[in-house]
Amino acid sequence: MTFGLTEDQVAIREMAQDFAREHIAPHALDWDARKHFPVETFRAAAALGMAAITIREDVGGSGLSRVDASLIFEALGQGCPTVAAFLSIHNLSSWIIDAFGSEAQRRRWLPSLTRMDTIASYCLTEAGSGSDAAALRTRAVRDGDDYVLTGEKQFISGAGASDLYLVMARTGAEGAKGVSAILVEKGTPGLSFGADERKMGWNAQPTRAVRFDQCRVPVENRLGAEGEGFRFAMAGLDGGRLNIAACALGGAQSALDRTLAYLQDRRAFGQKLSDFQALQFRLADMATELEVARAFLRHAAAALDAKAPEATKLCAMAKRHVTDAAFHVANEALQLHGGYGYLAEYGIEKIVRDLRVHQILEGTNEIMRVIIARALLGGR
Ligand SMILES: Cc1cc2nc3c(=O)[nH]c(=O)nc-3n(C[C@H](O)[C@H](O)[C@H](O)COP(=O)(O)OP(=O)(O)OC[C@H]3O[C@@H](n4cnc5c(N)ncnc54)[C@H](O)[C@@H]3O)c2cc1C
Repeated sequence: MTFGLTEDQVAIREMAQDFAREHIAPHALDWDARKHFPVETFRAAAALGMAAITIREDVGGSGLSRVDASLIFEALGQGCPTVAAFLSIHNLSSWIIDAFGSEAQRRRWLPSLTRMDTIASYCLTEAGSGSDAAALRTRAVRDGDDYVLTGEKQFISGAGASDLYLVMARTGAEGAKGVSAILVEKGTPGLSFGADERKMGWNAQPTRAVRFDQCRVPVENRLGAEGEGFRFAMAGLDGGRLNIAACALGGAQSALDRTLAYLQDRRAFGQKLSDFQALQFRLADMATELEVARAFLRHAAAALDAKAPEATKLCAMAKRHVTDAAFHVANEALQLHGGYGYLAEYGIEKIVRDLRVHQILEGTNEIMRVIIARALLGGR
């Protein structure tokens, strides 16, 4: 069942579309301009199950599939890709706790994460290690029943506003096998944040450094065994990449929808812009690109649901293809709006600015090619 949607899935998509239309889209430009992080809106989305989409139901999750998640994030992305993408990051951190935490950890953290009474950030990147994430240097040194963390994470979405930080830190030797996943609560002495970065898009969520200066947390905050953290972080990114792609797809669909309306209204040379066949062909290509992206995204999501051996490769392919297609379509939409596309009030330039980072984060699109090529060439 890769291509058809069940009745339940159609209903889930409608619920998310309604939510995006009513609670996100009308505010998207204002939140972008004011750099407002809409916590109340996140909590309203959480009340509908969208903060814990693939989390198991015994701790308050929705117990849905990756295909369902792709429908939800595409719908939310139509309202605002930035808001949708932060929900995706919160879902990613929560999923790692659900998948790899002990029963005690699941019961301690997940009920409030599913309601977004607790908001989570995912802390992998450092100034000296982005694509080469396994070279991270933040250290967690064991001291009795505690770890003492020292180091700095860079580019952390939600930092400062979030309540819980899922931190990949070095507890052992160099390389991926020396990394552990440790939860750090806001308010822990030694935890502090850098300034909110000034950036091209994604203005409705803060991006800040997260600093650990002799930050002491109990050993019971570690997920799994020492040395398993990098594996958990990468496993989470398979689904995370699908969600980031889905948010971009929604943003691009919104840009296309606005362009269809605009070209039927705007006139030049005595006719509607939509009467020029050259522009009709551009619209046809944009719509086709998004349909192809959508079909492939759902295919990759179905592979992850089925735990197919090629799922990681397909998720990387989907992230690369969908985010590139989405950015291209949004940029085309801007071009077809002429000068008005460049004005903030039309909403198109915001979508272009927001979608640009989807090609960079959760693994750049070059790193997606590294993953795909490695799979093709047998793990080289
Ligand atoms: C707005 C924003 C939010 C973010 N949120 C988070 C977050 O919440 N949590 C988090 O942990 N991180 C986050 N990130 C970090 C993001 O994941 C990294 O920026 C990204 O992984 C790239 O790392 P880098 O910036 O260090 O670039 P680099 O790794 O320095 O890469 C620079 C360039 O070199 C290319 N490159 C590197 N290695 C190779 C290779 N082997 N082959 C070919 N090309 C290569 C890259 O593709 C890129 O084009 C965020 C980033 C941004 C901009």
